[in-house]
Amino acid sequence: MADRLKETDVVIVGLGAAGGVAVLPLAQAGLEVVGLEAGTWLTRKDFAPDELRNNFRGWPQAVQKANQEIPTSRATASSPMLPRGTIHPMQNGVGGTTLHYWAQSWRLNPWDFKVVSETKRRYGASRLPKGTTVEDWPFGYDELEPYYDKVEYEVGVSGQAGNLDGRIDARGNVFEAPRKRPYPMPPLRWTDYIEKMAATAASLGWHPFAGPAAVNSRSYQNRSGCMYHGFCNRGGCHVDAKNSTMVTTIPRAQATGRLKVVTRAHATRIEVDANGHASGVTYLADGVEYFQPAKVVLLASYTYENVRLMLLSKSKAFPNGLANNRGQVGRHYSSHHQGAPVTALFPFDLNSWYGLPAQGVAVDDWADDNFDHAGLDFIGGGNLWVYSDRRPIAAAGMNTFGLAPAWGSAWKAFVRQNADRTNTAYIQKSTLPYEDNYLDLDPVVKDPLGDPVIRITADYQDNERRIARFAQDKMAAWYKAAGAIEVRKGDVDGAMGIGAHAYGGTRMGDNVRTNVADRWGFSHEVPNLGIMGASLMGTSGSRNPTLTVQALAWRTAQHLADSWKERAG
Ligand SMILES: Cc1cc2nc3c(=O)[nH]c(=O)nc-3n(C[C@H](O)[C@H](O)[C@H](O)COP(=O)(O)OP(=O)(O)OC[C@H]3O[C@@H](n4cnc5c(N)ncnc54)[C@H](O)[C@@H]3O)c2cc1C
Ligand code: SF4
Repeated sequence: MADRLKETDVVIVGLGAAGGVAVLPLAQAGLEVVGLEAGTWLTRKDFAPDELRNNFRGWPQAVQKANQEIPTSRATASSPMLPRGTIHPMQNGVGGTTLHYWAQSWRLNPWDFKVVSETKRRYGASRLPKGTTVEDWPFGYDELEPYYDKVEYEVGVSGQAGNLDGRIDARGNVFEAPRKRPYPMPPLRWTDYIEKMAATAASLGWHPFAGPAAVNSRSYQNRSGCMYHGFCNRGGCHVDAKNSTMVTTIPRAQATGRLKVVTRAHATRIEVDANGHASGVTYLADGVEYFQPAKVVLLASYTYENVRLMLLSKSKAFPNGLANNRGQVGRHYSSHHQGAPVTALFPFDLNSWYGLPAQGVAVDDWADDNFDHAGLDFIGGGNLWVYSDRRPIAAAGMNTFGLAPAWGSAWKAFVRQNADRTNTAYIQKSTLPYEDNYLDLDPVVKDPLGDPVIRITADYQDNERRIARFAQDKMAAWYKAAGAIEVRKGDVDGAMGIGAHAYGGTRMGDNVRTNVADRWGFSHEVPNLGIMGASLMGTSGSRNPTLTVQALAWRTAQHLADSWKERAG
């Protein structure tokens, strides 16, 4: 029998990117909030610049919950299971994955909110890929703009505006939608190599710009500017220059006196009352079971765990899982096609032994619908990203471009000469949801508590593969124009598998038959259950998700505060 605790206004599961932001507007509005976080507080000492520990051993966090519930995956319902990884990409700790993420902080394009209507308008309905379940979002970019702005200032994002209230500035992204204010900080500085790549892109007639990052380019909110020492690709920042929610919104919410952070709290079920309303959360902490009653429950435990907790929380009112009487929980899933890289070899050193992955040059000319697709066989596109980040172990695994054997003294000599002469671009491609791509509970594999882990059934479809090939061609042309002597394109056909940018599963939309959440992020079936994270998002854009996740979380929290009586019953 669980220990019943004192009722609170709001209980929120997970204090990562989404939950860690939402607690601030809630606490500021005067609501009592309990944050249940599976991980612990981490400190600067946990953020050592150690490639072996951070990138290969997946950290020595005190709590390894995520690593014990790594989803299983297969390409289709009739395909064999893929080999299961040993490290979950996501983090357990106060601040969640914002502790070790790359911190690229993008807004979506207006097109990403209106893929269906804009595709029909510009190219005709037949251009929507076969089998896609994509819908327009229930609102457009303008609705989210004030929340993007809020989060950029509260968390701290560095960057160069390209469209300030309609005034285009060629130093920034000329394709971006209008923003009301500039970024609160200038962009991270460039290296000589990044300057060279930017100049080359401009010479091709493209529009290069410094990408936005939730990393301080100068002292901000009494925290240090970035020192550019690197090694924080999958590691935390030991001078607090990376703006995780652990150092920004969470402590500010705590300072109101209305946020109680409960660490090592592993939520296992969302409970409902006789009316089918959420009544609170059952969790385990150090082997003891507790029940935290609340007027409103918010789920912010990342896409896979949001879906898993809902599917595990069965009751008389919801025999197929919480808020799942229409069978939509787990549907409309996609994850970014993060494979299909392009790697180049240059005849000169790039000096990439310092710097961080959010420090770089972007080209958006081939992203989303920024270019005419009339003569093409896909919709969407890719953002090309060239960045500075190199570490010894990864460098030793460099591509030898067929110029040296893969072992022995000739290989060593090649790596010694070329380790700082190679660069791999990151290409962020838009990915759509499809009927055949979904999440459910694995019928066989369980976590240590005996609960099934998530099973991913998903594969990239023709549209995504065509985007990948198209974007790779553009990237290869960019590298060659910059003087690369060898260029290699990676495989575009790799399986989708587990993703750090996982979308859908609790999609947001006005149609109750095809969406789990309403336009505010609250469940259609359980009006006092709010959901946060990219699980709400029905399109990805050619963008990393977190700033959008955080803007949505702030908006959901603000809506809750504004409509408290209605939502809390
Ligand atoms: C290496 C890496 C680099 C990335 N780089 C970028 C980038 O540059 N830009 C970008 O936009 N995105 C990036 N991402 C993605 C980004 O991390 C996610 O979009 C973001 O963290 C998702 O926010 P979230 O709140 O949904 O999940 P998280 O931030 O992971 O937070 C979820 C929290 O819930 C807790 N939790 C989980 N289950 C439970 C439970 N049952 N009970 C209690 N607590 C629970 C977890 O411990 C965690 O603290 C990156 C991800 C990785 C792994
Ligand atoms: S490079 Fe910047 S963000 Fe990374 S650890 Fe150093 S100061 Fe922190």
